[in-house]
Amino acid sequence: MSVIQSITVLGATGSIGVSTLDVIARHPERYRVFALTADRRWQELATQCLVHQPRYAVLKDPDSARELELELRRQGCKTEVLQGATALEQVAVHESVDAVMAAIVGAAGLLPTLAAVRAGKKVLLANKEALVMAGGLFTRAVAEHKAVLLPIDSEHNAIFQCLPNHRADYLGDGLKSSGVRKVLLTASGGPFRNTPISDLPKVTPEQACAHPNWSMGQKISVDSATMLNKGLELIEACWLFNARPQQIQVVIHPQSVIHSMVEYIDGSVLAQLGNPDMRTPIAHALAWPERIESGVASLDLIATARLDFSSPDYTRFPCLQLAQQAAEVSGTAPAILNAANEEAVAAFLQRRIRFDQIAVVIGEVLSHLPSIEPVDLAHVQGADTEARALAQQLIAHW
Ligand code: NDP
Ligand code: MG
Repeated sequence: MSVIQSITVLGATGSIGVSTLDVIARHPERYRVFALTADRRWQELATQCLVHQPRYAVLKDPDSARELELELRRQGCKTEVLQGATALEQVAVHESVDAVMAAIVGAAGLLPTLAAVRAGKKVLLANKEALVMAGGLFTRAVAEHKAVLLPIDSEHNAIFQCLPNHRADYLGDGLKSSGVRKVLLTASGGPFRNTPISDLPKVTPEQACAHPNWSMGQKISVDSATMLNKGLELIEACWLFNARPQQIQVVIHPQSVIHSMVEYIDGSVLAQLGNPDMRTPIAHALAWPERIESGVASLDLIATARLDFSSPDYTRFPCLQLAQQAAEVSGTAPAILNAANEEAVAAFLQRRIRFDQIAVVIGEVLSHLPSIEPVDLAHVQGADTEARALAQQLIAHW
């Protein structure tokens, strides 16, 4: 019988957070929720607290935290309510915590996730933006503090499962020493894979958020529609698996049944398949190196019938090319790309810019800001701030 593990879920009210709690609830003999966090959705967090009875609940927003406190006291729930960015870090590094699910969306996840790494925790990484922004600092911290970093992003979890030793090699000599020729990073192509390119300027936030295969938060749904998500994932894979961008080939696979593949120098290609349900990678990482039930239905290959593959079209998906360029440049270029994208996506969701202008904002910001080699977090945060300011200027101009 395993010892019960205490888990902090950062971003508990989001799509990944909810799936994580679903898997945890299936295994009360293995996992206990230590802390749940969100930004401001206190009603959702209150419901989760009543079910999981965590020791702490954290809201970034102080007003929402006061509402949560009142609600939990009214319900007789003993969970202690904390508020603010420092409290997010506090519950990520607490000595009673065994594992942290890093599922805050965007740059806001960087500091608490990095804090968990520096505390030597087992970190289940969904928050890809943290690694994109500060990959070098992040992976060095993983090695230095002997943290265990397990990928939740379905593609990276698939690659991890297809690599030898089932472990990422953050600082070694990379994929080559494992006999890997290349990584095949699969992408569904999102909702606009076949939309006439001339119609893309007219697409609405609702259309962009309606992903054909996956149910996800708004920001990653828009990223999937522009395919910037695949670009972020390429950068994420470079850091996780110590790969060069040229070793990673993006392949469009509309069925999202193969979650990614690894090709070896002897010609073997290993793939991980499954239904598109994030509870599979979440259960894999939670239990690793063991296996547990996730609640995901068995894959029906007969019903799936066919698997298609094609190359990405850069005219349709300029964001993917911009991300590949930022990956090549490295330094602070990925942090600049990420910040410009976060601002552009927020403006698109508020209907302030068109869908096709997301790529224009990112391209302009990248071409105006130089990349430097970040020696510390201040450099990364400086690049992030500068890129956001420039993106906002461009957006205000339209
Ligand atoms: P959601 O938008 O559904 O959820 C985001 C969570 O983060 C919510 O709990 C939200 O709180 C919280 N949050 C948002 N902003 C802040 C902030 N400034 N400070 C503290 N907490 C904040 O996102 P997803 O679950 O879809 O995605 C989470 C991460 O996982 C992203 O990095 C995404 O790229 C990655 N990922 C997601 C996948 C998916 O299937 N959804 C697949 C692969 C990766 P509140 O509810 O109060 O707003
Ligand atoms: Mg993914």
